[in-house]
Amino acid sequence: MLNKIKKYLSDNTGYLIRLDDIAENMNWNMMDQTTSLFDKFNIKPVLGVIPNNKDPELLSYPKKKENFWQQVHKWKNKGWEIAMHGNNHVYDKFCKKIDYLSQGGNTEFCTHSYENQLKKIEMGLEKFSKENMKIKIFFAPNHTFDSNTLLALKKSGINEIIDGYGLMPYEEKGIKFIPQLFYKIFALPFGIQTFQIHLNYYDQNDFENLKKFVELNSKKIITYTEAVSKINNNLFFKLTRIFTKKILQIKRLF
Ligand SMILES: [Zn+2]
Repeated sequence: MLNKIKKYLSDNTGYLIRLDDIAENMNWNMMDQTTSLFDKFNIKPVLGVIPNNKDPELLSYPKKKENFWQQVHKWKNKGWEIAMHGNNHVYDKFCKKIDYLSQGGNTEFCTHSYENQLKKIEMGLEKFSKENMKIKIFFAPNHTFDSNTLLALKKSGINEIIDGYGLMPYEEKGIKFIPQLFYKIFALPFGIQTFQIHLNYYDQNDFENLKKFVELNSKKIITYTEAVSKINNNLFFKLTRIFTKKILQIKRLF
């Protein structure tokens, strides 16, 4: 019995690493160090690539000499998962807590008309397809999207989002959601969690912390395919979604 419980817990505990704001302009020094670390431990993260980055803040980071899209193909060929992170990452609206996850804030998508959102998503996908890349996963800048975003994504053939509440991937409105709870690396003892990492804001100290975490937990770090295979819509996990939503809405604590 105890062994069965142990097996259940270990089968349903895993960490997925999501690197945000991957674009031509970024903190390449941190990206290079992180790449070596992940290669050493055979970690395969998800990269949130911004196809047409026009975010003034992100554009202030340096470019690399090497062609960016060749680099994206290299990551993909290693088995890293490539997701679309918005289209241009420009926050052209602010939404109150009427977005899908009820968080509110600056947004590229939320409160835009369906037609507008569809255009944004199509522009992003066009860039990927020009670079010979097929995309099936999306996550919005600043977590802000609404039901029109979901409709526009489905219309464009995207049915998977890395965001949302709870302890286990789930399906809702025809979309697969892989939950993303905390801003910092904060490992819960149970559940499938996504760690959101912004290397642009990393200093050497942050990197050392990430390194320590990876060294200690590399066996629990899973791939995107493993995460999505854990989709579970049962009542217990539905309740954990409601519970984590309530807690994180009070304040994004981590
Ligand atoms: Zn972002």
